[in-house]
Amino acid sequence: MKNIVVFGSTGSIGKNTLEVIKNLPNYRITGLATFSNYKLLVNQARTFKPKYVAIYNAKYYTHLKGDLNKTRIFCGENGLIEMIKNTDAEILVAAFASAVGIKAIIEAIKKKMRIALATKEILVSFGEIVMKLVKEYKTELIPIDSEHSAIYQCLEGRDVNEIQAIILTASGGPFLNKPIENVKKIDVLNHPIWNMGKKITVDSATMMNKGLEIIEAHHLFGLPPEKIKVLIHPEAICHSLVQFVDGSFLAQLSVPDMRLPIQYALTAPKRMVSLIKNLNLSRVRQLNFQSPDFKKFAGLKLAYDALKIGRSMPAVLNGANEEAVRQFLADRLKFSDIPKVIKKTMNAHQAFQGGIEDYLWAENWARQFVRKIIEEVS
Ligand code: MG
Repeated sequence: MKNIVVFGSTGSIGKNTLEVIKNLPNYRITGLATFSNYKLLVNQARTFKPKYVAIYNAKYYTHLKGDLNKTRIFCGENGLIEMIKNTDAEILVAAFASAVGIKAIIEAIKKKMRIALATKEILVSFGEIVMKLVKEYKTELIPIDSEHSAIYQCLEGRDVNEIQAIILTASGGPFLNKPIENVKKIDVLNHPIWNMGKKITVDSATMMNKGLEIIEAHHLFGLPPEKIKVLIHPEAICHSLVQFVDGSFLAQLSVPDMRLPIQYALTAPKRMVSLIKNLNLSRVRQLNFQSPDFKKFAGLKLAYDALKIGRSMPAVLNGANEEAVRQFLADRLKFSDIPKVIKKTMNAHQAFQGGIEDYLWAENWARQFVRKIIEEVS
């Protein structure tokens, strides 16, 4: 029996993870954590009967106390760390919508738990530190992000010197063939292929999601920026490709369904029967690929810039993007201004080398800087 803790169990990836685990023999939930959705957390705890639950936002702690009497309840950042310290689980599914769980994830790495990582922000802001710890403690970090899962599946532990390039595919989001000036929030939140949380849906529309994935791929696979490429692939059937030095390409194909990369991160290198539909290629008939428009989707270039500058700059990119998305969702920032405020914030930052606390500071500084820019304009 494999025991699993899920961070972010009430979000889109979290809910899919619980479905996957329900379907897998020999896998069970022993810990659940959410940011603030205590109602759903209580329901999930009743179904899966974990030993531990945790809620990040301490405001809701008392609600849980009355509702779950056989479960040990933790709260706040320290609660997440305590839950990891107490658990005997082998796998942590890290699926919070931001890097809030970073310290608990580091604790899990030190306990040699396998990290099934959905929160790409963790690698964007703290990639170097996290990957160094993964190596030092000889544990595994397996991506849930569909593109990175695809590459991971194509590589199967191959030597990095055999790779010519990796190609991240992108659906292109809802504005692939439409102008991005004056778009409405409802159009942004209506992704043509994937049904996801709000933050990542906005990131997909700006293509900053692909930008963050470039940085994520750099850390996961140890490749320089020039070997990480992006291709638009509107059908979202080919989830990414690896080009090898001998000219061969390997790709991973499936219907777009996050339950597949989630399951692979749990069972790898083993494959097990899953819940996803079979891909009928004769019905798909065509797979299209095209280069992205770097002018229209300025976030892509900003991500390459942040990666090349390195040190604290990716954390600043990440913090600025999070805040810009939040301001956009609150109707205080135009969609087309999202990359503009990120760029301004990056220009105002002098990158420095640091540890987790320093990069958390850099993220926060960036959030505040974005708020300041927006206040000054309005
Ligand atoms: Mg992705």
